[in-house]
Amino acid sequence: MYTPKSSFSATQSEYAQLVAKSPEANGVYCNHCGATPAIDLDFHAHRAMFVISRYRKLMGPFCRDCGLASFRKMTGDSLIQGWWGPFSAFVSNPNTLLANTINRVRLRRLPPPIPGAPTLPMDPGRPLWQRPAIAGLLVPIIAPCLVLAGMINAPTPADPQPDHRDLDRFLQIYQPVNPQFPVPTTVPARAAN
Ligand SMILES: [Zn+2]
Repeated sequence: MYTPKSSFSATQSEYAQLVAKSPEANGVYCNHCGATPAIDLDFHAHRAMFVISRYRKLMGPFCRDCGLASFRKMTGDSLIQGWWGPFSAFVSNPNTLLANTINRVRLRRLPPPIPGAPTLPMDPGRPLWQRPAIAGLLVPIIAPCLVLAGMINAPTPADPQPDHRDLDRFLQIYQPVNPQFPVPTTVPARAAN
């Protein structure tokens, strides 16, 4: 539930009187701009770096505009930053994205915020699918393909051994320069019996 700050509580009170007769007011006020109607839910972002991971949380309630802006920001950040750890890639980040998507669907029920709130609602900006961050959806598709390709191309014990013919050729023409160890030029005669 929105808790008005003391500096503009009178304004929030005036806004509450303004919307009292509106059929769209639901008695829940946005935690970020103070507008109504609003819905009580949260949005999360996940960030992973190998074994280290971190969650961020934007707490509701949200009006429709603040909720849309928060969903797009937090989900976009997770699509880029959330995949880079083994547990995060398979568990934490998919769960974060799923929870945000469910809350996005719940947010859809809200009509636009009633004008006159103490603070302007956030600008929702461009839809998520029109942002570069949407490319992060490809990470869980491309990464397994790269790993699979690496496994297929990895050398196996059955592979032929390295070719030593160049080394053999070098040893055939090599003559040691140390006279104490001359290379025999002829095969020693066999001792007579
Ligand atoms: Zn708001």
